[in-house]
This record gives sequence, structure tokens and C-alpha cells, in this order.
Amino acid sequence: MIDFRSDTLTRPTPGMLEAMMKAPVGDDVFGEDPSINLLENTCASLFAMEAALFCPSGTMTNQIAIKCHTQPGDEVICDRLSHIYQYEGGGIAVNSLASVRLIEGDRGRITAQQVAENINPDDVHKPVTTLVSLENTANRGGGSCYDFTEIEAIKEVCLKNNLKLHLDGARLFNALVAKREKPEQYGKVFDSISICLSKGLGTPVGSVLIGTKEMIRKARRIRKLLGGGMRQAGFLAAAGLYALENHVHRLKEDHAHARQLAEALSQKDFTGEILPVETNIVIFEVKGRFTAASLAARLKEEGIIVIAISPTQIRMVLHLDIHPEDVKQTIAVINAL
Ligand SMILES: *Cc1c(COP(=O)(O)O)cnc(C)c1O
Repeated sequence: MIDFRSDTLTRPTPGMLEAMMKAPVGDDVFGEDPSINLLENTCASLFAMEAALFCPSGTMTNQIAIKCHTQPGDEVICDRLSHIYQYEGGGIAVNSLASVRLIEGDRGRITAQQVAENINPDDVHKPVTTLVSLENTANRGGGSCYDFTEIEAIKEVCLKNNLKLHLDGARLFNALVAKREKPEQYGKVFDSISICLSKGLGTPVGSVLIGTKEMIRKARRIRKLLGGGMRQAGFLAAAGLYALENHVHRLKEDHAHARQLAEALSQKDFTGEILPVETNIVIFEVKGRFTAASLAARLKEEGIIVIAISPTQIRMVLHLDIHPEDVKQTIAVINAL
């Protein structure tokens, strides 16, 4: 089976497993796991920020960040398709007792002007706007990337209005590679950054929250509260360190594969709109002789697994475990349909 459902499906490579087996470990709740400490320091310095915190998932890093930056009753501004709103179980309400102001963005990306227009006035009737959260790349935007100048403009608005700025960077490394950007650029403008090691970077488990020393001290308390204080999790951190060394530069292969698939799909009569392919995700509309569900079923007969994300749209995600020959095979199947 060639499985395009998600970049979370990857299995650790032999090199990664070896790094994990060799990891020095300790009890991380005591702050004594050398591999976790190294991963946290590595991530903080990569983004030129002060401190970092290893967590079991990207949902947890996002939720902790939101809780750090808000008080109960505050409001968070984000795109309507954001993972923090759509796919984290209502966590903003449950964990932070905060409300959300949803913006109709462009493929998951919002503008500085939209942020400015959605900040509540100082009025007792209104929740206090305290946080803006961006997603880069934007998952439901088909892996779309922000223009860095827009992020800088959003930061300006945040500074003027005393708002914190969080980045859900589950796939930030895809954006960094696609746009040839530097992690320090992001460290300069965001108050906190969440990165996932378990997506394109290919580790089995783990995300990292990066921010100021003061914020990460608070985040560590919240991680414990949420049950995310792990013990000898250095085995997992070692996978993350290995991935940062070995799996970032190869993301461009996933991006090239995504473009090749989109090119093949664009030739077919059953393909409607294909969202611009900027990174490792292809989202396309299905029309005519197939529905999204029937095309997914047809591909499955050929050993290709995709996800119908709506009645008319299919998503295919490229990753470490999809090799060039798998892409060739998939294109041959598409061509023959
Ligand atoms: C996957 C993902 C996350 C985190 O998901 P977990 O499964 O909790 O690690 C956060 N944001 C985006 C955009 C994602 O795609």
C-alpha cells in the first residue's frame, strides 16, 4: 500500500532507531533527561529564542501556548480553518476558557488588516483580545505558506495592540525549506512557536514549544497539569535530534513529489480545482465520473490510500515513507484511470 493519508504515518528509519537506542536518558520531570535537555536547547538556539519544552503532541504544545498567553474570558484571533480551532477538541474553551474570533483567510492565512479589524475595542461587553495564532504551513490551506512580510505586518499590529503572537508550526520546516527562510526570522517575531517532529520530520512522537524562559517555565507547569510530564522520554527526543540533523533538507523531495502528482492529476477530466501546491500537500476537487469517496475507493483497489476531506475534495500528503518509485507508480495509476 502507498499511503498518502498523512505525514504522521512514517515509521522510524534504521538510523533513527539506532539513535533512539543509544540515547542517554533520565527522569525529565526532574529535568534530568540529557537527550530532552539537548533537544530543547537545540530547538531554542535554532530559532534564536530563550527556551523550549518537549511535549507528547502538537495539540499539547498549541494548547499550552494558548493557556500561557491568555486569561479566562480572553479572545484568540485565528483563521477559521486553523488546527487549534478545528482539530483540538475545543481545547481553547476547555483548557483556557477563552473564546475564538474566526477569520475567513486565504487558504488558511490571515492578513494584518484582518487582524487589526478583529481586535475588540476596550468595552466591558467584549472579550479582551490578547492573542493571535497563525499556522504555517496551513494544513487545510493545502500546505500554503505565509509571505514573511505579512507575518511582519501582523507582528506590527500585535505590538501596537499589546497582543501575543503564536505560531502553530506543525509543518514550519516545510515552509522554511520551500521559501528558503531562516528559523531565526521566526524566532524574532513570534512570542511562541510550536513545531511537530512527528509530521514531515518523521519521528514517532513529539512536538516542541519554543519561547521565552519565563513563558516556558509557566508552560512546564501546564504540561504537568495536562499529564504531559514524561519520564525517560529521551528515547523520543533522540529521534527528534536525529530528524533535525537528517530529515530537514530532504523535505524538498516531498515538495517535488507533490508537484509531480498535481501535474498528473491536472490532466484528468475528473479533477476540478487543485489548490496551489507549495509544499508536501495536494488538495484537489473531484468532479464528473467520480466523487471524492468513489475515487478514494477506486485508488484503494490499486493499493493507493488517500483521504476524502470533504464530499468533493481529496487530500494527498507526501512524506519520508513515500519513495520516488511510489510516486511513479501512483502517477501510472492516475494516468490509466
Ligand atoms: C498535526 C498538526 C498539529 C498537532 O497535531 P498532533 O497530532 O496533536 O501532534 C497541529 N497543527 C497542525 C496544523 C497540524 O497539522
